[in-house]
Amino acid sequence: MGIRDERVLRAVEQVPRQLFVPPAMRGESEADRPLPIGYGQTISQPFIVAFMTEALRLEGAERVLEVGTGSGYQTALLGLLAREVFSIEIVPELAARAAEVLLGPMHLGNVRLRVGDGRQGWPEAAPFERIIVTAAPATIPEPLVAQLAPGGRMVIPVGADPEVQSLRLFQRGNDGVSATVDLLPVRFVPLTGDS
Ligand code: SAM
Repeated sequence: MGIRDERVLRAVEQVPRQLFVPPAMRGESEADRPLPIGYGQTISQPFIVAFMTEALRLEGAERVLEVGTGSGYQTALLGLLAREVFSIEIVPELAARAAEVLLGPMHLGNVRLRVGDGRQGWPEAAPFERIIVTAAPATIPEPLVAQLAPGGRMVIPVGADPEVQSLRLFQRGNDGVSATVDLLPVRFVPLTGDS
């Protein structure tokens, strides 16, 4: 499907998606589409998860901030591909379920989870070389821009239309100059608390 980064493809092979979907949905866990995980939220389509992960261009030494842990599936891939992952989820029940899988069967000791509003980022752990956001704000939250390290990359769906948003790559140059590229039209749940 156009994903070429070998490390990303290997990580997708290593993470069983069925661990992250509710028992009633397990028969469909291999389908390339989003699935409901409760609380009005979804586990993202595997292609989109792989596409966003590839766009981060992880080499293994990065500290990554993820906003929207959800099921923890994307978090698991990040945990395999980066040095340290800081992931924030606003629904406590989803964060608890993700923690069970990430720390249990996935044995990912480099993942830290927090319940809260990810729009504020994780200031004590900043700056991050990579940021990934898995719910859509109308505009990129300023604290996330501030917490992106020079030379860093942020992948984020942006747009107020609930039907379609633009998946954007925001890059901060080492010279402080920023650039934004539209990658793909996508459909994500809204980032809660957006104004
Ligand atoms: N990548 C995840 C996966 O594969 O399971 C899917 C994430 S789901 C599309 C988006 C998640 O973002 C939901 O779990 C939702 O509760 C969470 N979310 C929404 N607004 C948030 C906010 N302000 N802060 C943190 N998490 C938020």
